[in-house]
Amino acid sequence: MINFAWIFLLITICHGSNDFSSVLRNDPMVRHFEKVGADRSDAKENIIADAARKIGHQVLSKILHQGDILHESKKQLLQEKIEGLDVTCDECITAVSLLHVLNNDGGRGAISKIAVQVCVLAKIEDKGVCNLAVNEFADELLFVFFHLKPEEACHWLQPDLCPKPADYLPDWSINTSPKPKPPLKPRQRPTPGSPTSKVLFFTDMHMDIQYKPGVNADCGEPLCCRDTNPPAANASQAAGKWGDYRNCDMPPWTVEGMMKNLSNYHFDFILFTGDIPAHDVWNQTSNDQIDRNNRFTKLITKYFPGTPLYAALGNHASSPVNSYPPPQLANEPGGDVSWLYNAAANNWRNWIPEQDLVTARKGGFYTTLVRKGLRVISLNNNYCSDDSWWLLVANYSVDPADQLKWFVGVMQKAEDEGEKVIILSHRPTDGCLKSWSENYYNTIMRYEGIIVAQFFGHAHTDEFKFFYDNQNSSRLASVGFIGPGFTTYSYLNAAYRIYTFDGDYEGSTQSMIDATTYYLDIEEANKSDQPVWRHEYSFSQEYGMKSMFPEDFEDLMRRFGSDINLFQRYHHHVTKDKDMGYCDESCRDNAIRGIKKTIGG
Ligand SMILES: [Zn+2]
Repeated sequence: MINFAWIFLLITICHGSNDFSSVLRNDPMVRHFEKVGADRSDAKENIIADAARKIGHQVLSKILHQGDILHESKKQLLQEKIEGLDVTCDECITAVSLLHVLNNDGGRGAISKIAVQVCVLAKIEDKGVCNLAVNEFADELLFVFFHLKPEEACHWLQPDLCPKPADYLPDWSINTSPKPKPPLKPRQRPTPGSPTSKVLFFTDMHMDIQYKPGVNADCGEPLCCRDTNPPAANASQAAGKWGDYRNCDMPPWTVEGMMKNLSNYHFDFILFTGDIPAHDVWNQTSNDQIDRNNRFTKLITKYFPGTPLYAALGNHASSPVNSYPPPQLANEPGGDVSWLYNAAANNWRNWIPEQDLVTARKGGFYTTLVRKGLRVISLNNNYCSDDSWWLLVANYSVDPADQLKWFVGVMQKAEDEGEKVIILSHRPTDGCLKSWSENYYNTIMRYEGIIVAQFFGHAHTDEFKFFYDNQNSSRLASVGFIGPGFTTYSYLNAAYRIYTFDGDYEGSTQSMIDATTYYLDIEEANKSDQPVWRHEYSFSQEYGMKSMFPEDFEDLMRRFGSDINLFQRYHHHVTKDKDMGYCDESCRDNAIRGIKKTIGG
């Protein structure tokens, strides 16, 4: 009976007909509503129909924003459709309450059907993408939709319209200071001529094993240049052999070629801040994700045998993308990510002792000693993001997997033992939930004296994050490096970086001395059919930096403010020298605001 009502509801939603009221009037569900005292007027029924239509669009919008399935132009189209539906917060709450009642019998399937139908009929995406995307995210979507209270669901769906309920995403804090912060000592530069370490860094590989040159690179799907796309109609449409600026990821031979080139050099260790799979996020199984992790590990062990890799998990490592349920939800459908953590830890075992991987198997994070005096900490900060919808319910966002509590403990022990630390995580923290990013920030402030650097990925660009002192906002306490990402997705060149650290010797400062970025100009590589990795810039030459301490970056920031031409060079490097356009003063001010933003929410 209820399913019968849903068929009409779908028809109403999809075709915008006005028959919904009469359907509802005769439906047992509505009679149930009457019994519990709900208003049964025509106006109310129409409101519910309208609200359900809008919810269908908003649910779809949430799904298609996962992992950026939507093109910019489509985002706008969907947003316009949502705005055109114009449903108030009260109407939304009523509609969600109705859908919650249906949850017991038929509601779960109906929500998915609505989203697919809206997606297809509104011509938001290709039907195949619509179906697969909605199915891919169904477990997580249904968990969050049916576990949020109606006011919470409506705030989630339309945050600008519906106020945040008081206990939704509660604020929280952990004790970041078991011991008082010791007085800061002046940082010491290594003695000139001391041994150095070379460290290879890359991130956001986004390797597409279905990459196919010559097919339509402008295919209308969220990811193109794939063997599922039709052949290009003309030369300008054709996917390039070595990569493509449009919505395409990296050909495996471009990834492998880069590693083969670099295999002639010695690196002390390799850092990787996550995201191996391609962006076909509407269709990725856990086996696909495990396969990509294994392929990447094979490449590293083949070209850099004996060189340890320290990696963080990206939001794209999970299936579906961004899905990082906290450990206490392991028994929910789709709530168990141990398949990912175990697969990653089994690969990391190549370089990291098993006893250091206990936390990796539990929550995707770990710490291990790189060498005497230098420790790496890999955080799984996918637990920081409201893109992992599981965290939106109850208090699941409160320090998921107790990771930050653990982080403070590790930092304290490192401080006690006189170690310096390198911190890896995937997401720049301004994209995190407020409390997570504040607790992280407070930990960085407390232990700034032992931090060599923070490394992030995710953005695909080459940028900084500056963590200013919370007691003295003009003093830079710690620097985060975002990227450079390897993938060209989208309208970027490909790049990797080599860091120079003080070397492995008794009395080493363990500090970072310089960084050099190498890039592949994709257009040139395709034209000449010859991928040539070129020197892009080094911090010492390009920015005149004596070392890579926070005070050096504080000075660089001052010079960015006074010298627009110096800033232009930074601006070009953001896209790995793809966008060589001029960044005027308001563009610069925006970028500087971005560099200084480290707290989310
Ligand atoms: Zn990412």
